[in-house]
Amino acid sequence: MKTALGHEIFQLVREISRTMDMKVYVVGGYVRDHLLDRPCTDVDFVCIGDASVLAEKISERLPGKPKVSIFKNFGTAHIHSSDWDFEFVGARKESYRSDSRKPDVEPGSLEDDQLRRDFTINALAISLNDNDYGVLIDPFGGVKDLENGMIRTPTDPDITFSDDPLRMMRAIRFACQLGFHIDENTYAGIRRQAERIEIVSTERIKDELNKIVAAPKPSIGFKLLFNTHLLDHFFPEMVELQGVEERNGIGHKDNFYHTLQVLDNVAELSDNLWLRWSAIMHDIAKPRTKDFNDKDGWTFHGHEFVGSKMVKRIFRRLKLPLNEHMKYVEKMVLLHLRPIALTKEVVTDSAVRRLLFDAGDDIDDLLLLSRCDITSKNERKVKYYLQNLDKVQQKIIDVEERDRVRNFQPPVTGDEIMELFGLKPSREIGIIKNSLKDAILEGIIPNNREEALKFAIERGRELGLKVVNYS
Ligand code: ATP
Ligand code: MG
Repeated sequence: MKTALGHEIFQLVREISRTMDMKVYVVGGYVRDHLLDRPCTDVDFVCIGDASVLAEKISERLPGKPKVSIFKNFGTAHIHSSDWDFEFVGARKESYRSDSRKPDVEPGSLEDDQLRRDFTINALAISLNDNDYGVLIDPFGGVKDLENGMIRTPTDPDITFSDDPLRMMRAIRFACQLGFHIDENTYAGIRRQAERIEIVSTERIKDELNKIVAAPKPSIGFKLLFNTHLLDHFFPEMVELQGVEERNGIGHKDNFYHTLQVLDNVAELSDNLWLRWSAIMHDIAKPRTKDFNDKDGWTFHGHEFVGSKMVKRIFRRLKLPLNEHMKYVEKMVLLHLRPIALTKEVVTDSAVRRLLFDAGDDIDDLLLLSRCDITSKNERKVKYYLQNLDKVQQKIIDVEERDRVRNFQPPVTGDEIMELFGLKPSREIGIIKNSLKDAILEGIIPNNREEALKFAIERGRELGLKVVNYS
């Protein structure tokens, strides 16, 4: 197993810690990723002594003498240097009391420090000291677990998870990110302690959740979150998607597993976190719009509207950003049926123009989502729908080239219409604006100013308005 450390920082730490007569080790995530050959630019150093003094001396020798940020409360010192993050921390011993979420912390040995870490693969250390430079210190069989792809707590899982329940999310996140298994005993601990996740702050949960969403195959993480019942505590709407109901011998598909399939499909084609969130949310309202009738069987009418309305509430609760990313997800959920709906009829230019107008610059993402939404087990069906979507895509390219409606703005604005008729904002102005937009998208009038003005005046007259200002 390799241990050679590439970056010059390690030699520098060796040199300076020698002059201070201080023992220092690289520990945790960097060692893990180094052994797995994964890129990692976050390095944690554990020092048996004062971390901040060491960090100050290191910074003196780094290009541009970067600032050292000292966090007294945590006994840590941080340096950011040419895209790398170095964290220096004094070795510590932690003990948790049942009446407090914060551990009691006292200085400790390297062994104490390794013992407080969450998983065996995260408790590996490499010495930077002269007598054993480069030697891997692996008290809990972390290397074996790395080789076997195993997530395991170094001590009793029930205590580990009860002490800091976020570790349950971290176990699942690592399993998903690295494609590892969770050891049976560790997994049983998560099942038993799942309820404790309630004491963890939403921000910390959200960070782990986003790492799962960003993983190569996010379904692995979501299945584990579901099976351990962790998901119930922070995303019950997703749990509700699971299950199949049958009536008169007719079932519907399990929307939880369908959603995960769509999510994995998107993840294969795009790293866009918010497109992945759109996949998670696209059918979120199916349980609450579900209905059955003898003629149509199961229906989920309006689930795209109801679902897009649910996005904000869910984003707020999960402390996801309430900004343009959220608006994008709302839009994707609202429009997700439109491309496939187009394939079921003769695709008219005006239907394509409407879709282009509504999706704007996100049209390509929307098409990608709708391709990923085709998850039938029947391969012929899948092929058929994909071919139809190809046709829609080509039609969109043709129409866009000709009519440029992607970011369409009517050539006469609402303000201008008000001025034309000397009116303040009113129902009539709204009606004129809308019919003008429709007329252009339907191809009734060409997309130019002169025709648009003529149309607005005509429509105003029909509504009994008089032109007072025509310039
Ligand atoms: P990543 O950087 O990919 O998120 P990481 O394992 O490096 O993963 P960090 O948050 O950078 O995670 O933490 C660095 C190290 O600190 C971990 O490898 C682990 O040893 C320890 N650690 C982090 N969080 C916890 C925790 N909640 N409980 C115990 N040890 C932890
Ligand atoms: Mg890290």
